[in-house]
Amino acid sequence: MTRALLSLNAGSSSIKFALFVVDGGGEPLHVAGGKIEGIGTAPHLAAKDDNGEHVVERRWPDGEGLTHEDLLGELIGWLGNHLDGRELLAVGHRVVHGGTEFVGPVRVDDGVLARLDALCPLAPLHQPHNLAAIRAMTDLLPQVPQIACFDTAFHHAMPPLATRLALPRALHDEGIRRYGFHGLSYDYVSRRLRQIDPALADGRVIAAHLGNGASMCAMAGGASVDTTMGFTALDGLVMGTRSGSLDPGAVLHLIERKGMSAAETEAMLYQQSGLLGVSGISSDMRVLRQSGRPEAEEAIALFAWRAVREAGGLMSSLGGLDGLVFTAGIGENDADMRARICAGLAWAGVALDQAANEANAPIISSAASAVKVFVIPTDEERMIAMQALSTLGIGTEGTA
Ligand code: ADP
Repeated sequence: MTRALLSLNAGSSSIKFALFVVDGGGEPLHVAGGKIEGIGTAPHLAAKDDNGEHVVERRWPDGEGLTHEDLLGELIGWLGNHLDGRELLAVGHRVVHGGTEFVGPVRVDDGVLARLDALCPLAPLHQPHNLAAIRAMTDLLPQVPQIACFDTAFHHAMPPLATRLALPRALHDEGIRRYGFHGLSYDYVSRRLRQIDPALADGRVIAAHLGNGASMCAMAGGASVDTTMGFTALDGLVMGTRSGSLDPGAVLHLIERKGMSAAETEAMLYQQSGLLGVSGISSDMRVLRQSGRPEAEEAIALFAWRAVREAGGLMSSLGGLDGLVFTAGIGENDADMRARICAGLAWAGVALDQAANEANAPIISSAASAVKVFVIPTDEERMIAMQALSTLGIGTEGTA
């Protein structure tokens, strides 16, 4: 009998979901996926099947009072009709922070939930929404296991030096240290690379997850040894609306000399900076591409320049570079951005095949390139499903 598994990625105003069926072999097959958006204003639930056909579309124009739990209830209602009698094995949840304790996916019970609650101060903008979804699903489906899959876990074995901020050591012991994020995406990319090119997967590879959130991960033999995000998902690259790394003195200046409150500073660094802040136009790369204004070009150029600079640092952590992988919205689709970043790394032997790059081909390096360059579409929802299955003892090792 086939069984099913639901992946959830719950944020403040949206919930992404994907439904997989699991046959005897344990390989999850994607059957439908979608989003609930506009939570708190005018919610909209939409899902498509693998042929791109809408399988559900609902709007609540006056639904500002509908909570995450109400809307997950609607999702469960739809799911009930869509399961065709299949048993729902589990719900897998993306949870941004596992701290130092959770180094792999875990089945959630009251004790685990309390320990995950204690990590909310480390990711206040994301963790509470992730946990609210787990609570809501536990209430709605008390018999179904809820499994937390962490964005930090892929980086748990980074060398100790890579986890340390140069702050007084008592703070490190309190958890103020580098964790790294986008781990579900990197886990997926790492497994895919092992299927596509096992020899390269054993080497020194940088994966660049370039989406609204953006980071890079240095992988040796498929495991993270360094990454650009640190204590929070604010560190590292220029992002859609986040600043990435900046001089902490600038933050102090904003608070002490310009009189900005901590809340105003946080909102500026997370929501008004990055591509949006530099361009003054948009956080969306496609919009900047269409703009033609010099501020848009400057934002695009800064995004690329900072990516090259961070890649240089990660190469030092790896002691060289054998492979480079682009993934997520910009990494998978923006040929010009890949070309700029690769041009900035020409000194390291990176050379593109222009036609392959323009075509978003799976391998975009030229035959002469010392570094193999790949475009690998990420699939965090599938990774959640795979991790959830392995937690239930249904193996999907090595598949992606
Ligand atoms: P999220 O972090 O929200 O999952 P995505 O991975 O979907 O983000 O990436 C969103 C980014 O990808 C946006 O800046 C968007 O403009 C960009 N993007 C998507 N498609 C293209 C494209 N064809 N060309 C350039 N940028 C694109």
